Amino acid sequence: MPSREELLVGAHLSTSRGGLVGAAQRALAMQSRVFQYFPKNPRSYRPKEIDRAACERQRDQVRELGVLTVAHSPYVTNLSTQEPALAELTRDSILNDLEICEAYGTEYLVVHCGRAVGAGPEAGRQAMVQQVREILQRWNGRCQLLLENTAGQGTELGQSLAELAELMDEIGSDPRLGLCFDTCHAFAAGVLDFDHLGRFWTDWDRYDMGERVRVVHLNDSKFGPGSRKDRHELLGQGQIGAERFARLLADSRLYPYPLLIETPVAKEEEYAGEIERAYAWATGGCSPETGDR
Ligand SMILES: [Zn+2]
Ligand SMILES: [Zn+2]
Repeated sequence: MPSREELLVGAHLSTSRGGLVGAAQRALAMQSRVFQYFPKNPRSYRPKEIDRAACERQRDQVRELGVLTVAHSPYVTNLSTQEPALAELTRDSILNDLEICEAYGTEYLVVHCGRAVGAGPEAGRQAMVQQVREILQRWNGRCQLLLENTAGQGTELGQSLAELAELMDEIGSDPRLGLCFDTCHAFAAGVLDFDHLGRFWTDWDRYDMGERVRVVHLNDSKFGPGSRKDRHELLGQGQIGAERFARLLADSRLYPYPLLIETPVAKEEEYAGEIERAYAWATGGCSPETGDR
């Protein structure tokens, strides 16, 4: 069992109050040394102008506080879009997010795998591979691009570990390309199967997830296995539940990563309780049946 100090548990926080530094201080108040944020309006592609010097001042303060940051690209982003104008807009938007990350000293930018929409999965896949290649070609910073697994809602690509590994291999080897693994998405897609957890870990190793994954999203799911619905639930209160989370987190394969919570709390302060639950499960400090201490 790891100690709390060995774990990096955090949540998705808003930077609208006090910017990056304000969010870092609130993370610390919640006993956390990592958080995720949106580099710009999550519902818009529009590139954001950045004041590099101001960002770098915040970066330095956040570093001094000893807090790590991860960014999440806007939800509207579709890496598989086939429409040339929209593809260009998407590319510019992600490159802008990467610039913002770089100025803030953020190591990882998470972006969802593409949605094939009307074109069919194979064309969608090709478009996504091409798009990510181009982004990486144009990007000369350090920030890494992490493709997030999806629940398979609608025409979403990137569900199984095999498919994610294949996508990465096809894009080509680049140390700045990795994966973000979301427990809610994997559960809803039927990939994180608690009746066959051993098989899940076998696949994890077989497809080299230890190397590919850089960030984990720790979310419960409103809907059951195979529902292919991306609806997060509070930790322990969804279809995954406390007992299964405790079993999942009993495996040390998830510890090297930042474990970030994106659950539907009513108020940001409630993430303190969510973070506490994750610590308790991972350190074995709770009863697995109820998740209570
Ligand atoms: Zn996620
Ligand atoms: Zn989600």
